[in-house]
Amino acid sequence: MAMTFDSGTPPAAPEQAPYPNLFRPLDLGFVTLPNRILMGSMHTGLEDRVWNWDRLRAYFVERARGGAGLMVTGGIAPNRRGTLAPLASKLTNRFEAFRHRKLTDGVHEAGGRICMQILHAGRYAYHPFSLAPSAIQSPITPFRPSAISDRGVERQIDHFVRCAGLARKAGYDGVEIMGSEGYFINQFLVPRTNRRTDRWGGSLENRLRLPVEIVRRTRQAVGEEFILIFRLSMLDMLEDGNNWEEVVALGQAIEEAGANIINTGIGWHETRIPTIATSVPRGAYTWVTRKFRDAVSLPLVTTNRINMPDTAEDILARGDADMVSMARPFLADPEWVNKARLGHADRINTCIACNQACLDHVFKNKIASCLVNPRAGHETRLVIEPTDRPRSIAVVGAGPAGLAAATTAARRGHRVTLFEAADRIGGQFNMAKRIPGKEEFVETLRYFTREIELTGVELEVSTRVEADTLAGGRFDQVILATGVIPRDPGIPGQDHACVASYLDVLAGNRPIGRRVAVVGAGGIGFDVSEFLVHDTSTEEPDPDRPRPEAFFHRWGVDMGLDRRGGVEGLQPAFEAPAREVWMLQRKTTRPGAGLGKTTGWIHRASLKHFGVEMIGGVTYERIDDEGLHISVDGKPRCLDVDNVVICAGQVSRRDLVGPLEEAGLTAHLIGGASVAAELDARRAIDEGTRLAAKL
Ligand code: FAD
Ligand code: NAP
Ligand code: SF4
Repeated sequence: MAMTFDSGTPPAAPEQAPYPNLFRPLDLGFVTLPNRILMGSMHTGLEDRVWNWDRLRAYFVERARGGAGLMVTGGIAPNRRGTLAPLASKLTNRFEAFRHRKLTDGVHEAGGRICMQILHAGRYAYHPFSLAPSAIQSPITPFRPSAISDRGVERQIDHFVRCAGLARKAGYDGVEIMGSEGYFINQFLVPRTNRRTDRWGGSLENRLRLPVEIVRRTRQAVGEEFILIFRLSMLDMLEDGNNWEEVVALGQAIEEAGANIINTGIGWHETRIPTIATSVPRGAYTWVTRKFRDAVSLPLVTTNRINMPDTAEDILARGDADMVSMARPFLADPEWVNKARLGHADRINTCIACNQACLDHVFKNKIASCLVNPRAGHETRLVIEPTDRPRSIAVVGAGPAGLAAATTAARRGHRVTLFEAADRIGGQFNMAKRIPGKEEFVETLRYFTREIELTGVELEVSTRVEADTLAGGRFDQVILATGVIPRDPGIPGQDHACVASYLDVLAGNRPIGRRVAVVGAGGIGFDVSEFLVHDTSTEEPDPDRPRPEAFFHRWGVDMGLDRRGGVEGLQPAFEAPAREVWMLQRKTTRPGAGLGKTTGWIHRASLKHFGVEMIGGVTYERIDDEGLHISVDGKPRCLDVDNVVICAGQVSRRDLVGPLEEAGLTAHLIGGASVAAELDARRAIDEGTRLAAKL
């Protein structure tokens, strides 16, 4: 059996609860939701294959047990041409509906409620049979859609209605109709993608007709006592998107047509302004829902970058919305709601909005999981059970790999000692958290600090382990999580006084001048460049520091909403960089090509706006008083810089392996200590957790 959070005794009354607004029930007339938290729709990839439905059931059941009051499934298409990809999930007949009973029964037995999202991909479909209002290809898919006929539009409406009816038969508590993020319905709504001249295009009234008819006819088909959520694009963030008056008119028409709840949609998938990445401030977009609240009387759900109870409570307390939606935070911690309800926010495993194991996985056709919680999506396979043979375990290194291994092993009942050479836990996360826009990494360190206390791990910081420390039969098992050391790039003159390692720069050990060359354009080269172009302070990073105004100014979003799509005519307006930076690599491929699929473009755009010059195909000749001498395409060039910062990758730190073997001890190697190439925290935490789950 999987171990879950000890829920303890619930507080007596909502007003005594630590988050009174978050835990106030919401009465929809025919059903009362226990709290104001919606687990938002997340495509996991499990929906798409029949043989994964037991895993999908376990995934939802674990979250229902964790207190999620209302959940929404990943998008399910109303017909084959509306699927996101070939063989992706659809609900079109009773046979398919039968399968959904697995989910709905499981969730209901666990005390939860679940709605099914109906998603028609339109031109975002990743197959050649896509349909759209007009035959305009999207910039993010390789297929040109077919323009749909008038009868075809009617057929799509029928299919939405049929899908909702089948969802009801399958036991769902309701449906969410996906009308935002640039999918089929959204494509009808805006002039950018709808160039029709018939009754489905042109005037606002015509453009609204499709969503309004879908909602109206769905309501007729499913009756009054069925939750109908409409996800509405409140801020398209595109040229030729809707203006605010049009958004409001849509909301009022959707209310009139019979929806119970309106959920906020922000941006399209092709929008080039960050919407959910870690560099987006917490709760940055809730002002949009607040403005919409004046126009309709339905309960409104707000969303995007809400990951901790304090943020959610503040949003509700100041009246920005009636509910908050969180999706990725439920991957990170299925017990989020129970922990918040009992006032144990310090125990929440916080989503750091990295996208590395969730969205980036989905885009690679892998099952969505979570960097900080490798069990997500693998609940039936990665099971953490109490051990029947408690043993003494030494874990060397308190970076992400060692932290995951130590706390998982201790939670299972092993006696664990965690040794760390530095004066604090965290390893490289102590550097990552210093990068502007990566302050959320602080939360992972807070989580592990609390887990160490809760699980009884004996922590010994400022203790560099030697083989002798572990000898003498004190430990039954040794885990080496000693991480990595920077790679020596072997550039002539690299011992010059102007050369610094990323370690020194991020630790603040070295003053760095105004003109800097960064050697290496991997994840760390990008992060260090971002650090250098900012006026960085030595304060402890604070992930909750509110700064949405500066964010929107930088990316060119009109918070007055006077412009069409919120962006028309605006350009990004980044401040002047604190330093002039050149970022270099030997490869001739595009710098940053290896960064995450859903976040790499943000890192590249940010550095471009800060004026960082990225140079590929570089040969490093030497470093001397003149600066960094390179050649590109055989042509010599000298970068006249104050400092050269080396970010040339890393190699495993394994200095203990030999001495331990000599002392007769065999160690398990995890994280960077095991393999340094392509190491990231996702792999480090995954390896630590999996090893400890079977010791
Ligand atoms: P480390 O984090 O290197 O930890 C090893 C620990 O072992 C250290 O604390 C060290 O002091 C300790 N140690 C070593 N030898 C001994 C000894 N003999 N005795 C006791 N203790 C010892 N990854 C991502 O996935 N996403 C990101 O966005 C990301 N951003 C990053 C940004 C920066 C600036 C940096 C530097 C890294 C970033 N990473 C990121 C990489 C990620 O932090 C690493 O992959 C991860 O920390 C590796 O974990 P680890 O536990 O294997 O090793
Ligand atoms: P990396 O991604 O492997 O990049 C190493 C860089 O150094 C490359 O640009 C490489 O380019 C260069 N290089 C390699 N050998 C060199 C040599 N001998 N001389 C000069 N340059 C050399 O490693 P990293 O940047 O150190 O990052 C470490 C890990 O942390 C990565 O695996 C990454 O996934 C993770 N990380 C992730 C993020 C994120 O946002 N997801 C952020 C930071 C770090 P050339 O070989 O072309 O010169
Ligand atoms: Fe959040 Fe990153 Fe986990 Fe995705 S992988 S749920 S963004 S912590």
